[in-house]
Amino acid sequence: MQKNPANSFAELTFKKFNSLPKTGKPTKSEWTVLSSIIQVDSLTGDSKVVALGCGTKCIGKSKLCPLGLILNDSHAEVLARRGFLRYIYHQLKTKSNIFIYDNDSGVFRRKESIAFHFFSTQVPCGDACIVTDPTKGEEEEIASKRVKLDIVTSSDAGDVLTPDNKVFTGAKLIGENTLDPMHQVQGSLRTKPGRGDRTLSMSCSDKLSKWNILGIQGAFLDMFLEKPIYLESLNFSCDFDMDSMKRAIYMRWKEREHKSSRFIAQEPQIQLATQCSFEFSQDADKNASPNGLVWCDVPEEKVPYEISVNGKKQGITKKLLQSKKSSLKISKLNLLEEFLQLIKLNPHFKTKLGLKIDDELKTITYCELKQKCQEYQNSWKTLKESYFQQWTTKPENLLSFNLLSCNKES
Ligand SMILES: [Zn+2]
Repeated sequence: MQKNPANSFAELTFKKFNSLPKTGKPTKSEWTVLSSIIQVDSLTGDSKVVALGCGTKCIGKSKLCPLGLILNDSHAEVLARRGFLRYIYHQLKTKSNIFIYDNDSGVFRRKESIAFHFFSTQVPCGDACIVTDPTKGEEEEIASKRVKLDIVTSSDAGDVLTPDNKVFTGAKLIGENTLDPMHQVQGSLRTKPGRGDRTLSMSCSDKLSKWNILGIQGAFLDMFLEKPIYLESLNFSCDFDMDSMKRAIYMRWKEREHKSSRFIAQEPQIQLATQCSFEFSQDADKNASPNGLVWCDVPEEKVPYEISVNGKKQGITKKLLQSKKSSLKISKLNLLEEFLQLIKLNPHFKTKLGLKIDDELKTITYCELKQKCQEYQNSWKTLKESYFQQWTTKPENLLSFNLLSCNKES
């Protein structure tokens, strides 16, 4: 009998997690979410975890950083994906075994045998958590869940378990006409859960659903790649509702039109891992771990593993909190630096970006560069019009930093 692929993805992920140092991991009285991205080579049969993230926290609007130092969203799914970006940057900067540079088209082509899969120990927050119970009226269901939520959020948890063990999304609806932001409407966009200061980060269901059309490589890396990178399958080691999951990832957009020859909505396999359970899974008696953990498959000297708290490196002294030293390798500022280094190695991308060859890359802002990734941005713009109308926008002053801003401040 063929092995359930979801089980082997879970197994690989737990093994990788266990191999990481104990520092920063949850204590016995804490829980977290673990997500990973697994690379599979169908030619050799090799599979390995290339990025992994743990975390449940997200910072509020008031804490956002204009220097690109802080990580706004530390949910496991997002950490794993940003770790994956570092992995891809590393691959493109070194002699890669998964990409081949194509001289004719001037972009990197991924080997056809290489595919990427996603694994997580919990249902992504937001739409995938919304389940309708046909035996109960919807209002009744909301009320019973609200009671539980009010108790559990006092420990600042994100998603909470309801008495019937379903994950309550906790994610908040967006829009002026919404009377109650916690109302459980199917198929809607939401910002991340959290108390008090509302976050500007979208729920993981919404982000996964965006990556399912635009790819997980993001605007910057898209410039270098022949094709966007999609997740072939989404695997979970927890009970979930298949209809809700499919709706959150792709069904809710199915009828809408999106014309692009590059970005094509996918229908990834959604699979349940049956054999493994995560020792730090969510438990009503435990508190959410305050830490974020992120690991990616890069050499030791590049620091593959980092621990965060409140979106910055753990253990940073107050004096250094506004300096570059406080930022994780996956922060906006450091990923901008990776992008600029890659351009230096491949100067013809300057022309592709509409930059002059002697343009000083250090002074170009994050926002300006993002806007130059035209094909991606045009597609994202039309998608926001037809699919993701209520996607939050970050104030422009938070994206106007460059590599020198940080030095100026400190
Ligand atoms: Zn989430």
